[in-house]
Amino acid sequence: MPARAKTSGIRRLPGRPAALPPEPARIAPPWSLRRVDGLEILELAPFRRLPWLVHGFSTRPGGESEAGEDRVLNLGFTEWDSRHAVLRNRRAFQSALGAGGHKLVTLKQFHSAVIRCFDASPDEACRGDAAVTGTCGLLLGVQTADCVPILLVDPRQRVVAAIHAGWRGTLARITEKAVGQMRMLFGSRPGGLLAAIGPAIGGCCYEVGADLVAKFTSQFPDANRWFDEPRTGEEPNPLQWLNMMPPGHQPPPKNVRLDLRKANRDQLLAAGLEGKSIFASDLCTACHLGLLFSYRVEGNGSGRLLAAIGMREG
Ligand SMILES: [Zn+2]
Repeated sequence: MPARAKTSGIRRLPGRPAALPPEPARIAPPWSLRRVDGLEILELAPFRRLPWLVHGFSTRPGGESEAGEDRVLNLGFTEWDSRHAVLRNRRAFQSALGAGGHKLVTLKQFHSAVIRCFDASPDEACRGDAAVTGTCGLLLGVQTADCVPILLVDPRQRVVAAIHAGWRGTLARITEKAVGQMRMLFGSRPGGLLAAIGPAIGGCCYEVGADLVAKFTSQFPDANRWFDEPRTGEEPNPLQWLNMMPPGHQPPPKNVRLDLRKANRDQLLAAGLEGKSIFASDLCTACHLGLLFSYRVEGNGSGRLLAAIGMREG
């Protein structure tokens, strides 16, 4: 969640230290962590089974970026890191994916629902938050450090997409719209698509304010399912505390947590994907700082993860 994380609706976790001791992350099938040349690439088995597909979610270890005493795989051009280190990290990540010869296509992400379709590598990065291609040799990448990265593949039409969904993109239905673009531009059948929802800040850690709850519940009939809040079980409407108190009589703010991955999974279902074809990692960026980066926890010193997907000939 670079750039805009401190705006309304977002609160930092109170009392959270800047660096937590690394917690061992459990990676369960169909996900796996492949170690190659000092890097650890998170992969999804149903994607690996397609021989013409390349994909992977980057993690923190390895790389050339100096973060304190550690060397990390920062894949975004952040203020604290050198361009040289990031470019070398990106090359190392691509070659670990087996996509060293691919042209990496990234976006100037701005938390929108703008989706770009590429049939060649653009001269300079376009503004947008999702990319789609049916062309071999391109590697689509989205950067995250808490936001949800989503990779889609249509094995039949051979089309791939990469999506960056923070709360703004999720609210603007970027994931649902990306499936719509694949249908419209390539004739993709949503029921045949596979989806990988990568590591992101989890429903365990992503505290949001009441204004965000209101935004989601006004847009999505099922939004209550994505929020976790302390409940007594007595409330006729679990979110009534938002608007039923007279001014000056509100109870102290309660912790409400948003599960962005669940929200995006529901968008994929709404777009016509089958539940069995959607695979969501349960890794929380904020809980696993030894493996991932979290903007919420690390602030401006956070690195960026890259989720990438592309196709090779044959
Ligand atoms: Zn967490």
